[in-house]
Amino acid sequence: MVMRFMLKRKIPWFWVAVVLICAAILVNLACILFYSPAVPANTENCKFIKWVDFTVTEEVMEQTMKLDIDSQKAGVKLDWVDLIAYLAAKYGGNFKRFKSSDLDTVVEKLQAGTPMLELTKDMKYYDYYREAYGAVLDNLVGNYKIQTTESLEKGTVEYEEKYGLKAYSPIAYGYSFAHYDDFGNPRNYGFRRNHLGHDLMGSIGTPIIAVESGVVEEMGWNRFGGWRVGIRSFDGKRFYYYAHMRKNRPYHADLKKGAVVKAGDVIGYLGMTGYSNTENVNGMNVPHLHFGMQLIFDPSQAEGANEIWIDTYQLVSFLEHHKSPVERNDDTKEYYRKYAFIDPSVEALNGKIPQFATP
Ligand SMILES: [Zn+2]
Repeated sequence: MVMRFMLKRKIPWFWVAVVLICAAILVNLACILFYSPAVPANTENCKFIKWVDFTVTEEVMEQTMKLDIDSQKAGVKLDWVDLIAYLAAKYGGNFKRFKSSDLDTVVEKLQAGTPMLELTKDMKYYDYYREAYGAVLDNLVGNYKIQTTESLEKGTVEYEEKYGLKAYSPIAYGYSFAHYDDFGNPRNYGFRRNHLGHDLMGSIGTPIIAVESGVVEEMGWNRFGGWRVGIRSFDGKRFYYYAHMRKNRPYHADLKKGAVVKAGDVIGYLGMTGYSNTENVNGMNVPHLHFGMQLIFDPSQAEGANEIWIDTYQLVSFLEHHKSPVERNDDTKEYYRKYAFIDPSVEALNGKIPQFATP
């Protein structure tokens, strides 16, 4: 029947099929590339963000964070991530177009009482950028308590309350590192792939610091990353990956799978392990920390082909101004953070450790 119909009408079914398949691929691509809650045609298939290019520069993070901190006691509180999302929507994500005057203008309008909702009502992608960049940055600035230097010197533990950057550089205070933007560069070990992280070249044994508080989700040997640690943020959206840690003694003695770590804690030591099926082998040529950040908007993105890894070069540069001071216990040779620290997000857990859904 179908054959007869085809012969009679000479409809090129092959090309119809090709067109239909192409259309389906295009819809999916549009989904991945142009997800926006403001685009109704895509909402059915795009309930969560599928892709993020983190293009925010260190300069923009610094300027907006300063505005956020300075505004905390003012009449109109500014949210640095709102400001960044506004700029991203204005520039189409291209921060090479950033001008301080654009930031001044939006801040003036907000301070004059115009709400962000009003300022962004014609910006198609503001909501997308707010959610995408919020997933990276929202928990990095906030309230925290830190031991005062005076009490540290007296040997007591007294805290002062602060508002500001509560995330730390992955490299401890007093230790240097070199880096450049190497995200996406080719890697050949095992199979040809792209570098989905950021390498910080330093000396073996340099204390590695937890950037943000979270739960230790992965720990142990992996033939690519060597001795590595994966820490998930409490909201589940960020997975921090620290790899190639030191041979023989990679981890801090207190680090355990399933345990909570605080931003600024020592989690392990820089090394050059990995690229080997055999455990505890130095397969790297240059000692370095591989630092990666994965974003997870849906459990289906936790593992496999849907993983979203972002370029953290600018973020690491931004965090370089906030390093955690450490001290060595001469008996155990273990390093510890110097200043006691209270993160309200750890206190809010009330001892309950978040469990994350996996695919
Ligand atoms: Zn790397």
